[in-house]
Amino acid sequence: MTALRVLIAGAGIAGLAAKRALSLRGIDADLVERDPAPRITGAGLYLPGNAVRALRDLGLSGRLAERSQPVLRQQLKDERGRLLAEFPVSTIWGEAGHCVAMRRTDLHSLLLDAVGESQVRFATGVREVTQDGTVTFGDGTSTRYDVVIGADGLHSAVRNQAFPEAQPRFLGQVCWRFLAPSASLAADTWTVMLGDKGRTFLSVPVGRGLAYCSAAMDSADPRRPAGDWRAMFAGFGSPASDLLAYADDAHFAPFFEVDAFEGAHPHVALIGDAGHACSPSMSQGSAMAVEDAIVLADKLAGARHRADVPASLAAYRLRRADRLRFVLDQNHRRDRARHLPAVVRRVVFRHFAKEIFRANHKDLLTRP
Ligand SMILES: Cc1cc2nc3c(=O)[nH]c(=O)nc-3n(C[C@H](O)[C@H](O)[C@H](O)COP(=O)(O)OP(=O)(O)OC[C@H]3O[C@@H](n4cnc5c(N)ncnc54)[C@H](O)[C@@H]3O)c2cc1C
Repeated sequence: MTALRVLIAGAGIAGLAAKRALSLRGIDADLVERDPAPRITGAGLYLPGNAVRALRDLGLSGRLAERSQPVLRQQLKDERGRLLAEFPVSTIWGEAGHCVAMRRTDLHSLLLDAVGESQVRFATGVREVTQDGTVTFGDGTSTRYDVVIGADGLHSAVRNQAFPEAQPRFLGQVCWRFLAPSASLAADTWTVMLGDKGRTFLSVPVGRGLAYCSAAMDSADPRRPAGDWRAMFAGFGSPASDLLAYADDAHFAPFFEVDAFEGAHPHVALIGDAGHACSPSMSQGSAMAVEDAIVLADKLAGARHRADVPASLAAYRLRRADRLRFVLDQNHRRDRARHLPAVVRRVVFRHFAKEIFRANHKDLLTRP
């Protein structure tokens, strides 16, 4: 068993998955979270085949099945609600994994239950990290770690300290997410409606009579626009027109991207959004976070002493770089396709959606 001193900063999806993956390999880690209590915010998540496979590899498939809704079909529609394409998700994922959707809080609590809430030190933010892995917390105390895992999200303090050159870029899109009654939707179908100006409306049932909905549009400014944003979707047909009535308390989020693949640090690894936040077009955020956690735990399982850590972290970065870059590239492609002129977009998706979606995911079918 390794005697490494490991710190995980952030108890979101990435940090909790890392804690679970490490403990399955007999590695103990301190897990700190800046917030004073577990997060209970957020709307929903679509988890594609590789996310479900990664959660299965953490021994969580039973709990996942209890708390999620299987997704069997994907549908693309134009903004009036006319069908452009429809295909089973197995077209993309084959045997690699099935797809589900769930409330964000359910994934979070599933991971927290698996780890044990008492394992998280809440109200403990990381403030500084030095080259030798010494971490200073918000209360001014310091500890030297052999490994510091930055799982502290898009605005990561760990990344800012260890890889200051990797800064988030605004992607020119903003979005609102909310839960709505799912009665009018097919229980097993992910549906996206595509309009002009990057307007996209996604809906997918998550179980318990609810659907996760997300409405995105182009914006030059990452700040929340003034006025009722729903006016921008006024021309959208069903199901958007019905579901928008439930969006009074929608969560607002601008889309940012960050890539810290190139940086190297002898004692710091980044996982999840801290290392590679991206547009949610491909719904790969959770999948990449959990895959990161598993690969990093595998590499650290081979390190016996502090002196082994830099090589293990280099092996982790090398193993992940191509896959993460693939996801970022595919997100860019998807975003470009969504911005094609309406007539071209309709023709492209009507005739080639299945092939485009398959190509978007081809490198993700193999294990990470
Ligand atoms: C609009 C939108 C839709 C999305 N839809 C999907 C989807 O359908 N499917 C999907 O898989 N992904 C989706 N994603 C992406 C997904 O939400 C993220 O990839 C995922 O939440 C990243 O998890 P994380 O743990 O890396 O970061 P976070 O969830 O941000 O967690 C980071 C944690 O670190 C804590 N923290 C922050 N700073 C510190 C500090 N200094 N010290 C200690 N703790 C700290 C935070 O409080 C937080 O708990 C979407 C994203 C957006 C914006």
